[in-house]
Amino acid sequence: MAISPTSQPNEETMTDRNEVINQWLRDAHAMEKQAEKMLTAQAERLEHYPELRERIRQHIEETRSQSDQLSRCLEARGTSASGMKDVLGQMTAMFQGLGGIFASDEVVKGALAGYVFEHMEIASYRILIEAARSEGDEATAQTCEAICREEEAMAAWLAEHMPEVTRTYLSREAAELEEAKR
Ligand code: MG
Ligand code: FE
Repeated sequence: MAISPTSQPNEETMTDRNEVINQWLRDAHAMEKQAEKMLTAQAERLEHYPELRERIRQHIEETRSQSDQLSRCLEARGTSASGMKDVLGQMTAMFQGLGGIFASDEVVKGALAGYVFEHMEIASYRILIEAARSEGDEATAQTCEAICREEEAMAAWLAEHMPEVTRTYLSREAAELEEAKR
């Protein structure tokens, strides 16, 4: 990659900037693939939390559409969503670190991980919106704005329902302990 000797934007630095944006879009696409996997695993284990499960199922549909939309942005930019393996590996490691899915309090840890994940998505799309717009790719900027609104809505829903999920978990746990004592 050539380094421009001046700070003036020229054709080469513009190409570089667009390649950076392509890579960020590929990262976002990989993030959505990871989100789909996580949410699907979560939804399977929420039989006692029907409202949470329903909202997660809705977000799985949104998430699938989001990765399709990102693929189309990449195609319109003359590239594609390949090379996602590294990012997937990194993120899987990061979320295994949160330790949620196989713990006994998995529903609470899952809500925690979900809330963190939505905010990572929000941050990623805010960056992409600014980057795409500053390089004149208004279509990508608007797609990312629409996706970002879905992530914000999901984060807000989780924030609002976190107390209820926590209470339900604690009272179910207490009931199970009672049962075990008999
Ligand atoms: Mg998403
Ligand atoms: Fe999301």
